[in-house]
Amino acid sequence: MKVFHCDHCGQLVFFENTVCLNCGHVLAYLPDLGDISALEQIEGGLWKSQPRDGQERTWRLCLNYSQQNVCNWAVAEDDPNSLCVSCRLTRVIPNLSPPGSKLAWQRLETAKRRLIFTLLDMHLPLTDKNNSPEHGVAFEFLADGDRGGQPVLSGHENGVITINIAEADDAERERRRSDLQEPYRTLIGHFRHEIGHYYWDRLIQDTDQFDGFRSLFGDERADYAQALAVHYANGAPGDWQTRFISAYASSHPWEDWAETWAHYLHMADALQMAFYSGVSLRPKDQAEPTVSQKTLKEGDAGSFDRMIEAWFPLTYIINNFNRGLGVPDGYPFVLSTSVIAKLRFVHDLIAAAREDQNKLSSTSIPPA
Ligand SMILES: [Zn+2]
Ligand SMILES: [Zn+2]
Ligand SMILES: [Zn+2]
Repeated sequence: MKVFHCDHCGQLVFFENTVCLNCGHVLAYLPDLGDISALEQIEGGLWKSQPRDGQERTWRLCLNYSQQNVCNWAVAEDDPNSLCVSCRLTRVIPNLSPPGSKLAWQRLETAKRRLIFTLLDMHLPLTDKNNSPEHGVAFEFLADGDRGGQPVLSGHENGVITINIAEADDAERERRRSDLQEPYRTLIGHFRHEIGHYYWDRLIQDTDQFDGFRSLFGDERADYAQALAVHYANGAPGDWQTRFISAYASSHPWEDWAETWAHYLHMADALQMAFYSGVSLRPKDQAEPTVSQKTLKEGDAGSFDRMIEAWFPLTYIINNFNRGLGVPDGYPFVLSTSVIAKLRFVHDLIAAAREDQNKLSSTSIPPA
């Protein structure tokens, strides 16, 4: 995530803010520009953003912003869709009658927008299932009982990501985390995990990445249902920490992949924030690992070695801030050598996908 400012008065603002608390302007995230802007209302339900490069642009607020208050993104005036690029990917919203479900929906969309920001920022292919039934992605937010009395399992199938809205209830999610003895369970973590399954389909299945994948993660043809049943019955192997990022990752190569992918997105997001915030750690001597603007900048430009170099000191900072505030460690993980090799595979795959996307978009622009 990046650092944002109100472009009317310069006040620091969060990605989620809808109003600048300093100058009072309505704020919206403009996905086309990758930035937050202060808006001024003009006629016909339209809004004008602050001029950029001498250009003024006109927007509508996403329908989920203007009517539901669960979004803060804008839609370019000439885009026929009434929903923003994030909200339009949700094809089933929760039933809003039960108390608390509107709040759950808002929390889900808020976490999802952070995911979509990262995917767009990484130039990963992201297709709407409405436009591309075969390769697209769609989200469904369901409660237990919505589908004929059955419990709703969060998961991914053929581009459809289902999230049980109970996960948006802090007490319920914490209960599940504690029951499953997980050190970390968050909404954004769920989104990053499930989208990992989607990108496995898009970036590994039917590509020449299979051999590389199997040599690191194992053979995904192992019976999935049986592997999960064994995992829930027996738990993870005693030495899982030397090979996997989480206990759950040890259940099946697909889950190892999704857990590793999610972890890579956690890292990329936090490192980007550290870079844009100007974070650095004072080293005791030159040989000590440190997080510096130089390593962060090189990591942001795509060097996995620089990312890893900056990562350990950054997590030291994160966890020490949390300990000082009396809350649990924000980063309760240990990276083994074999997990680092898997993360490098994810990094290289994303870099290659970005290159392909950039080639595609540069060839689709007609010559001047
Ligand atoms: Zn302002
Ligand atoms: Zn929206
Ligand atoms: Zn999974």
